[in-house]
Amino acid sequence: MTPKTIHQPPGQIDDLDACPAPHLQPLKDDAKPLAWHASQRFARFRVLAWTCGEHRETWYELCSGGGMAFIRRMSGDPVKPEVSQTHAWTMTEAHQVWAALLSGHVR
Ligand SMILES: [Zn+2]
Repeated sequence: MTPKTIHQPPGQIDDLDACPAPHLQPLKDDAKPLAWHASQRFARFRVLAWTCGEHRETWYELCSGGGMAFIRRMSGDPVKPEVSQTHAWTMTEAHQVWAALLSGHVR
């Protein structure tokens, strides 16, 4: 097992199967775009789930705050990433969108 390095260039990854974080499925042809906003809606929130940010330029977090849930999208510098986020849904709706995101049906 080789140690992981941060942001390995695509095509040179030999331990993807060992990665503990989910990788997004390729985008489907009929995928729907999500609306992403730069403004932060909740000052306090909890991260419920996340996708791999080590092997991907863009990574996502499922977050909950104020009884609602939303998805954050990060890209760029892992230390100071650019962040945008969806509007908030109920927990049930957010989990459905999260599943759709992972499977490539929305992005
Ligand atoms: Zn990974």
